[in-house]
Amino acid sequence: MSIATINPTTGATDRMFEAHSDAEVDKRLSASAGAFDAFRRSSFVDRARWMVAAAELLEGELPDIAQVLTTEMGKTFAAAKGEVAKSARTMRYFAQHAAGMLADEPVPEAGLSARVAYRPLGPVLAVMPWNFPLWQVVRFAAPALMAGNVGLLKHASNVPQTALLIEDVFRRAGFPEGVFQTLLVDASRVSRLVSDQRVKAVTLTGSDLAGASVASEAGRSLKKSVLELGGSDPFLVMPSADLQRAVATGVEARIQNNGQSCIAAKRFIIHDDVYEQFEQAMVEAMERLTVGDPMEPATELGPLATEQGRSTVQAQVYDARAKGARVLCGGEPIGGAGFFYPPTVLAGLDARMRVFGEEVFGPVAMLYRVGDAGEALALANSSVFGLGASIWTEDPVEQALFQEELEAGMVFTNAPVASMPELPFGGVKRSGYGRELGLHGLREFCGVKTLWSA
Ligand code: NAP
Repeated sequence: MSIATINPTTGATDRMFEAHSDAEVDKRLSASAGAFDAFRRSSFVDRARWMVAAAELLEGELPDIAQVLTTEMGKTFAAAKGEVAKSARTMRYFAQHAAGMLADEPVPEAGLSARVAYRPLGPVLAVMPWNFPLWQVVRFAAPALMAGNVGLLKHASNVPQTALLIEDVFRRAGFPEGVFQTLLVDASRVSRLVSDQRVKAVTLTGSDLAGASVASEAGRSLKKSVLELGGSDPFLVMPSADLQRAVATGVEARIQNNGQSCIAAKRFIIHDDVYEQFEQAMVEAMERLTVGDPMEPATELGPLATEQGRSTVQAQVYDARAKGARVLCGGEPIGGAGFFYPPTVLAGLDARMRVFGEEVFGPVAMLYRVGDAGEALALANSSVFGLGASIWTEDPVEQALFQEELEAGMVFTNAPVASMPELPFGGVKRSGYGRELGLHGLREFCGVKTLWSA
């Protein structure tokens, strides 16, 4: 795969980049290891000052940065601006709280001197996806750097401008040379990076296949890994739910980021009593969406990020239709320039169809009808993924049942699944392991050091 910006709105190649040579990668790895030696001894006060400066740069240059995001992967300009603002907020959060969250913890029951300390691991390799090209990197980098680690970014090959821009922001913010570097390399170079002795840990956000590959290399090299992988999140609607709000939120949760979010609602599991109403309202709402140029303020749905991504969605929908699924709206790619795909709703689905088991990374809502809470739960848990789940019911017994029994890393009640700096984010099953954000994310790339003195 070439390292290039191909604007998904036009399909045209905007910029091509030369991949870093082996010598350049080697130089950057050594710079990273060298930088860690001093950076791990820097104070929280200094790190926080640099992190806040980085947040200020994002805020000060917000529209320009947002435009790069939209150009490289097609999200609406409004969504891109939101992503930049959220990234800055998250930098500020960890700048403010990391020292407290990583303070030594006394364990008096083990002895008066006993304490647990959290210490950085070293250079951490981050293999990142294109779908939230700034946010995914910041949610790794802000906690990891505040903990005293140094970062090496291998970004997705289709967002090189964002990758270079992030490196530039950290440098201009004042972080010492080598503390955060981008490696312009493609996926075939990742295994060698993971096994390099200068790299101490790896985090990957992306597909389960890429995750499995990185985890095996990390395993062979006995290195810590964190995996944030795909999802096929269920959105459960029971009879007591506020249906109007559930439909409006469901549409938004499905089409956010042009349908390409790991925590998008993908499988709508609807109780029989409200199914017909839900189906009708969902199809009407999806058909009303404005599809078009993501830079236009009225646009609600832009293109998919890559031609390959659109072909995959198309193949999944055709497969379902050929096996008897009902296509209630959309279902055919939009012709002309760019990688546009229409809002699509599928019903009448079963386990023979690819969409039943695979993640669908595009604006395709899949509707399922169930008779009771038990059936809803069984269908929701039948997925190999377990990232988030959104449940819609006013019944406290159903709420408790779903919150307890859903196989997911995150369950949101009467709300869409969301990420926020204060809360751990991550999944179970083939959605990965380890956590980003919150206290748990901050401590992922820390060694736990037990200190005890006689
Ligand atoms: P992807 O193809 O797995 O790529 C993600 C990153 O991994 C890219 O940098 C890619 O490099 C690299 N990569 C691909 N194959 C690899 C391999 N075999 N070994 C090592 N690295 C490899 O995923 P994507 O299409 O960019 O992103 C979409 C996926 O990410 C979806 O499944 C989505 O659900 C998931 N995601 C998960 C979360 C979460 O927090 N759980 C968040 C966002 C996205 P190249 O670009 O050079 O191929």
